[in-house]
Amino acid sequence: MGLGYRYKCSECSKKYEVFQGIGMLFPEVYEDTVAKLKNGRFGKAWKELYENTENVAIDAEKRVYLCTSCGYWKNEPGLSLYVADNEEAISDVKNGCPVFYGEDSLPAMMGDMPKYHLLKEHEHKCKKCGGKMKAADDDEMLTLSCPKCGGAPDPENTMYILWD
Ligand SMILES: [Zn+2]
Ligand SMILES: [Zn+2]
Repeated sequence: MGLGYRYKCSECSKKYEVFQGIGMLFPEVYEDTVAKLKNGRFGKAWKELYENTENVAIDAEKRVYLCTSCGYWKNEPGLSLYVADNEEAISDVKNGCPVFYGEDSLPAMMGDMPKYHLLKEHEHKCKKCGGKMKAADDDEMLTLSCPKCGGAPDPENTMYILWD
């Protein structure tokens, strides 16, 4: 299940929305991301790394990335490459449904959860200014500027969307 946000610009009234996480259609999303990867959409280095590494998986989970310099944002998959470290992870990769959790979000004592290690981190670059982008935190999610005019979202009209 994923979480989305729907906004309305306080300046120009444009409505816009973003989605985070993974939904029921994730296996299709994952397959599609791998197809793009193999087509070289994410660069030759990425394609080669993927093809030459065993039990490798790509982070296809959607997030909002925010430019730390100019505030431009985009909603896209993480695209970092991970390698499966245990049986559970390897079987998830084979089934086309790998999900990576941050180390901290894993409950302790769950020995048979899928485990991965980071092979190579994808750097999200801002297409407006070339600055570095990072995943938006909860507060930043509530202030994503309007893609049309750059205005602030009207808090009264911000809605959460649960999707599956
Ligand atoms: Zn606007
Ligand atoms: Zn920027």
